[in-house]
Amino acid sequence: MISVFYDERVLDHDTGVALHEAPPSPWISAPEPHTEGPGRLRAMRDVLRDGPLAGRLDWQPGRLASVEELTRVHPAAYVEHIRRTCADGGGWATATTRLAARSFEPLLAAAGTALEAGRSVLDGRSTRAYALVRPPGHHAQRAQIDGYCFFNHAALVVEQARDAGLDRVLTIDVDVHHGNGTQDIFYARRDVLTTSIHMDHGAWGPTHPQTGAGDETGEGDGHGYNLNVPLPLGAGDTAYLRALDEVVAPAARAFRPDLIVVASGQDASAFDPNGRHNVTMAGFRGIGQRLVALADELCGGRVVGVQEGGYNPSYAAFCLLATLEGMLDAPATPDPLAYVPDQLLGVDEAIAAARAVALAVPPTEGPTGNPTADPTTGDR
Ligand SMILES: [Zn+2]
Repeated sequence: MISVFYDERVLDHDTGVALHEAPPSPWISAPEPHTEGPGRLRAMRDVLRDGPLAGRLDWQPGRLASVEELTRVHPAAYVEHIRRTCADGGGWATATTRLAARSFEPLLAAAGTALEAGRSVLDGRSTRAYALVRPPGHHAQRAQIDGYCFFNHAALVVEQARDAGLDRVLTIDVDVHHGNGTQDIFYARRDVLTTSIHMDHGAWGPTHPQTGAGDETGEGDGHGYNLNVPLPLGAGDTAYLRALDEVVAPAARAFRPDLIVVASGQDASAFDPNGRHNVTMAGFRGIGQRLVALADELCGGRVVGVQEGGYNPSYAAFCLLATLEGMLDAPATPDPLAYVPDQLLGVDEAIAAARAVALAVPPTEGPTGNPTADPTTGDR
């Protein structure tokens, strides 16, 4: 069973129409919806609710986050800036990222629903929880809007877990884009091992100075506790699964987390308008299997997934289904679109480079992550 946390209010973040993700072109008479629109999440909800996993998902309500909860990660002035921008009617916050007058409550609903999913695992009500939310969060830095993201949901879940007494949290980001916000927030800390598997897109401007390269390994106390696996454009199922098996898994074993937080995007799919990777449903199923296997091995099965990208509305929904089927070891739903060959060019080199960094993650001293510890009391 996976507990899926969902709040309809996240659909009310209206990103309007666009030229994909940019302001509409005057030459196109019928502009398309902005790619990070509510349709993508509706499709995911529908496939999970009405598809083959219907009987194995435990739907739970989300809630609004309080401003105080957001300030655990983001400065109060930043939260207020976003609230104020909405109150003033919204607008383009970056070249790709839009707010509307009614967006603030949906943003609170996304953050609160992620926190609720995390709380259910900390309280022992769930072992595996998934926050089905939008907009995504993993590009949001402490005080920087970036890439459709405003509040960093994965980081909020991590801090909640630390506050509940867990010593070490591992984040695994499988969105096709570098989890730069999560990296940045925990860059100088050794209690959070941040890992990200992504296409090698580099920095993308003033809101996103991080490169996602392998040499971004953390700083100060956090040196050695950030792990990037940039993969060549075109990489597919094999590349992602090898990155998990040969890079993330050994680092996770050295780190011994008490909880795994997954930044779960499906924009590495072969049909995504925002990605240049070629992962299919089989790959996402393998990702789900590995996430659960690592959690079972290292932290009593405790894993919290937070929805990130995935912008081909129909196929992203099927890839999310495949991820959760993998997590549940459920029968594989046939892939309606699996006809892209698996691209292996440059994968050996990319994995070798990232693995050298992964094997340098210092082994954690002391006992293993203790699955029997009670995170509600911090009793270890
Ligand atoms: Zn993405």
